[in-house]
Amino acid sequence: MSNSPLVDYIRISPHKSPRVYPITKITIHHMAGRLTVEQCGELFQTRQAASNYGIDNSLRVGMYAEEDYRAWCSADYDNDHRAINIEVANDGGEPDWHVSDAVLHKLVDLCVDICQRNNIPRLNFTGDATGNLTQHNYFVATACPGNYMKSKFPWIAAEVNRRLEEEDKMLYKLIIGFASKGDIKTFERLLESLGVEYQEENGYISTGVCTANQKATIEAKATDLIVPCVVVEVIEPEDNSEILNQVLKALKETQEELENLKKQVAIYAEDLAELAR
Ligand SMILES: [Zn+2]
Repeated sequence: MSNSPLVDYIRISPHKSPRVYPITKITIHHMAGRLTVEQCGELFQTRQAASNYGIDNSLRVGMYAEEDYRAWCSADYDNDHRAINIEVANDGGEPDWHVSDAVLHKLVDLCVDICQRNNIPRLNFTGDATGNLTQHNYFVATACPGNYMKSKFPWIAAEVNRRLEEEDKMLYKLIIGFASKGDIKTFERLLESLGVEYQEENGYISTGVCTANQKATIEAKATDLIVPCVVVEVIEPEDNSEILNQVLKALKETQEELENLKKQVAIYAEDLAELAR
């Protein structure tokens, strides 16, 4: 299992336990305050609670429990073992507990990343605990995640799904490195298990084309090992059809040339026959 490459700050809380189910859900909370990722992390050291991630108003992402761990967050054993719990900072207070657009967009980025790395195909918001995008108040009587955020859940699910669909069509090429011999071996094993082609040279790996899921997994490993990893090429579906058109055009030209050559050969054959007579 991996963690998000979007993380800027880490302060692991003791209020977590090893996860017993695979990750299939996301639960969103609000901090009920304008907390920074540091202040939120401090709170999770003392209060009997934690989340996997938090987002603050500077658009920084904090990690308080690794994804391998169930964070004690939604007061529901089953949900916490299946969900990544995310705390989001407010930029307003009661009664609406407003959250800024910028923070909501960062939240979408994080949800897209979580879905890609954990093979969650899409977020299904049902307005209750049966969906895979859930709210704290579905499990316990609480104001969390606040009236404003509650109203944004259909948008969050739609936006995450739109991004997942769009990024699913894209193909990527990455360069990983510089990395030590040991780390190179780790990446080679990972790329082989993912079925991604690669070339290694002097501590750098250039990958062949990867899907969004494969890219997310590789980036997460690079973050874990503190190895640089950059996207050097994004291939859009339009590009693919452009390449295909070029290939088809070249093929047609070759066919035409072949026809001309055949005609030429036929003429020569006739000439030869004439001469033989
Ligand atoms: Zn909550």
